[in-house]
Amino acid sequence: METLMEMARKGEYPEWLKNVEKYEGIRLEKIIKLISEGKIVIPKNILKNDDSFRPRAIGEYMSTKINANIGTSADYVNLEEEIEKAIIAQKFGADAIMDLSSGGDLDYIRKRIMDVVDVPFGTVPVYQLAREKNILDADEDDFFRVVEKHAKDGVDFMTIHAGVNWVSIERLEKSNRLLGVVSRGGSLTIAWMKQNDSENPYYKNFDYLLELLKEYDVTISLGDAFRPGCIHDASDRVKFTEFIILGELVEICRQNGVQAMVEGPGHVPMDQIETSVKAMKYATRGAPLYLLGPLVTDAAAGYDHIAAAIGAGIAGMHGADFICYVTPAEHLGLPTIEDVKEGVIAAKIAAHAIDLVKEGQKERARKRDYEMSVARRDFDWEKQFMLSPDPEKAMEIHTRVKPSSETCSMCGDLCAIKTVKEALKK
Ligand code: SF4
Repeated sequence: METLMEMARKGEYPEWLKNVEKYEGIRLEKIIKLISEGKIVIPKNILKNDDSFRPRAIGEYMSTKINANIGTSADYVNLEEEIEKAIIAQKFGADAIMDLSSGGDLDYIRKRIMDVVDVPFGTVPVYQLAREKNILDADEDDFFRVVEKHAKDGVDFMTIHAGVNWVSIERLEKSNRLLGVVSRGGSLTIAWMKQNDSENPYYKNFDYLLELLKEYDVTISLGDAFRPGCIHDASDRVKFTEFIILGELVEICRQNGVQAMVEGPGHVPMDQIETSVKAMKYATRGAPLYLLGPLVTDAAAGYDHIAAAIGAGIAGMHGADFICYVTPAEHLGLPTIEDVKEGVIAAKIAAHAIDLVKEGQKERARKRDYEMSVARRDFDWEKQFMLSPDPEKAMEIHTRVKPSSETCSMCGDLCAIKTVKEALKK
């Protein structure tokens, strides 16, 4: 069976791609060309049912997508809550869900969450390996066994930290990083390499890894093990070394007809975001970029979803395509259902702000803002609620103090819109 990328290179496409054309408002021929070049990815396991799946295209010219991470932890396992988080995240617009569970029966949890997810579904297989046994005792085959298991279960994309190798570790050891490595998968891989004095199995046997992924047309998300975990560590030589390695791996993915996207930082001050994003785009020859944030300050605990949305907006303006949400619980604990909702909405606002200036999307995105402005001018409150990210919340705020007229209670009878409207009628 051919992968989507292989089909695209022959000018062929599956029927469901027409849904993507409609969703994105981009011509099918252009979508096919971008897939064939590796400039966009559409994560979809071949085992996925075409009818119930909502495909999402990620990359150039496509609307900016957002991902919500959910999952149990070793300290707290409540599957029903995680399922609810997946449902809420999709309700508020998540374009992908990643199950990062690390506590409980991981195979069962993954399958149950997948049952309620109809957008691309991702995992980080090395987390499961670290739960099955002490990662330091794992052998190389174990790394691939878990990848194969997830692929057979129908996972659409997997984060694999293949960019960790002895070269990048040497850079890390020479660096003056404050927080070292904050990527869970990256840290596990480094610990295994050091203990076993052996090259990263994913890097060493990258062709074999691609063979496994190709069989199920799983998209690889090349993990950024060395994403800066604080402003002090941003844009250092360690990170740029990883950019280069990931760029080389993207080339190999393309040669093998496997869709690839690249993950990115992290914590980055606003004046370095453009450089960081453009460097990734150049090093990977335009691969779709999947960014966590970036958070523009380390000092927003409890409000990190806002720090991340600010960074995501800037990153998107310069080429980031896929935004991993951050919740208010970031750095503090496992998110609640409410935290997930807040995180998705913050990321969604950033994604829409990006689309307002993104080539291929801005005209469509601006329609929504135009409609909102017309509704504001006309005091059409129902329409304003409907166009807001959370209609119930918007309505609750508007009605909690009863306005004395058609305006809202902020300025009451001194409403500027009303005053000028009436003044200009005279
Ligand atoms: S009352 Fe003030 S805030 Fe409310 S709609 Fe009028 S101008 Fe806007």
